[in-house]
Amino acid sequence: MIIYKNYFDKLDKIRSGEISLKENVKYFLKAIEEKKSLNAFNFVFADDALKNAEIVERKIKEGNHGKLAGMVIAIKDVLAYKDKPLTCSSNILRNFISVYNATAIRKIIDEDAIIIGKTNCDEFAMGSSNENSAFGNVLNPVNNSYVPGGSSGGSAVAVAAGLCDVSLGTDTGGSIRQPASFCGIYGLKPTYGRVSRLGLTAFASSFDSIGPFANNIEDIALVLQIISGKDEMDSTSADKDVPDFTSLPDINYKPVIGIPKEYFGEGLDKEVRQLIDNKINEIKSKGFEIKNISLPNTEYSIATYYILTTAEASSNLARFDGARYGYRHKDSSSLKQMYELSRTEGFGAEVKRRIMLGTYVLSAGYYDAYYRKAQKVRRLLKNDFDNAFKQVDLILTPTSPFPAFKVGEKSNDPLAMYLSDIYTTSANLAGIPGISIPIGKNSNGLPVGMQIMANQFEEKKLLQFGKYLQTQT
Ligand code: GLN
Repeated sequence: MIIYKNYFDKLDKIRSGEISLKENVKYFLKAIEEKKSLNAFNFVFADDALKNAEIVERKIKEGNHGKLAGMVIAIKDVLAYKDKPLTCSSNILRNFISVYNATAIRKIIDEDAIIIGKTNCDEFAMGSSNENSAFGNVLNPVNNSYVPGGSSGGSAVAVAAGLCDVSLGTDTGGSIRQPASFCGIYGLKPTYGRVSRLGLTAFASSFDSIGPFANNIEDIALVLQIISGKDEMDSTSADKDVPDFTSLPDINYKPVIGIPKEYFGEGLDKEVRQLIDNKINEIKSKGFEIKNISLPNTEYSIATYYILTTAEASSNLARFDGARYGYRHKDSSSLKQMYELSRTEGFGAEVKRRIMLGTYVLSAGYYDAYYRKAQKVRRLLKNDFDNAFKQVDLILTPTSPFPAFKVGEKSNDPLAMYLSDIYTTSANLAGIPGISIPIGKNSNGLPVGMQIMANQFEEKKLLQFGKYLQTQT
């Protein structure tokens, strides 16, 4: 077992010869094999990874390597990686092969990262427990009878179980932050538009973002740095300067931290609350100003999220019709029947539920009552954050109202499942960045995460404060 603190430490050790990159990749491949029962990976690229390890190790020795040279990364199976399967953990894309690289993937490859495999997730990123996957459940490495969270469950587990250095996930309503909290690691959802969505299979296009999971803040910052930036191929990517996320000096200013009362009400697990309260007190004792604030429209966030994202999903997933991509029902008697049977057999239950909900809220007669109204509420939620960020730099909340739950516990109760995103969907509705930071374990030994949100394009404040907390513990 090779020990390194973060990527920079690893790079030093590769340079000095203390670590052989090839041995390091072999170590991860062995760990993936040994922990196969966690089901974190849909595909492992052993041969490519070993070959690239040799090439990159040489580049490092010669001093002409990229900024992620030797970082071993796993990517969620909703991201396009050229000539590799792209299934979105769905039967409808079971045999689909990517014809190009997602921009985020191209960028990490250009910087000499080593992609070790594609991770399991909820089908089309719809879910909170990784129980909606055509590749089967993913298990929480801390305790195998619990879920790892979702939808980026495989990506979180890949890092938490030591199967890679860093992973990429996607977050539409919490799918990076919630599994990071359930698995006891760091996970960051960037500002909407910070990272190009080209090659990210769309679930809800106005919510989706790509972001990293890691064991430490430095790696989160570095990977965010690489994948960020305007992309001519994604008109929703932001034309904003990307600050140097990796220079994280020990905090030289004291951000004002807001605690929104709406995130500490009914439904919040007692032990989670206790751990968060302890952390807040600790921060206060270090001289940070803590302000009680209100985000008054919070109670509408889940309803708004599930109206708007299902509407967008029903439109985005219309392209999977058996004619163009992936699975096609072979012996149908008409075109209509081919569409029907391909979709009936190709999609899982949760995806069908969302398509039906979304079609309903967009249909004539209901559009005004649901979709249009939800758009208006989205604006109110954004206004809440705009007002809050006039008073505070950061907003601190629990990531999820409870720690990981048992496999099967909520899988037959969609509403209960949806409530696990009660604290995370608002950041996607408002387009702001959020990070989940591990802060401890409950009496069952299950990890608990704390969420910190910042205003749009202020990821650096999250990283700086995250670094401060990391140093404290
Ligand atoms: N769990 C939420 C959902 O099911 C969030 C999913 C996500 O962020 N991709 O929609």
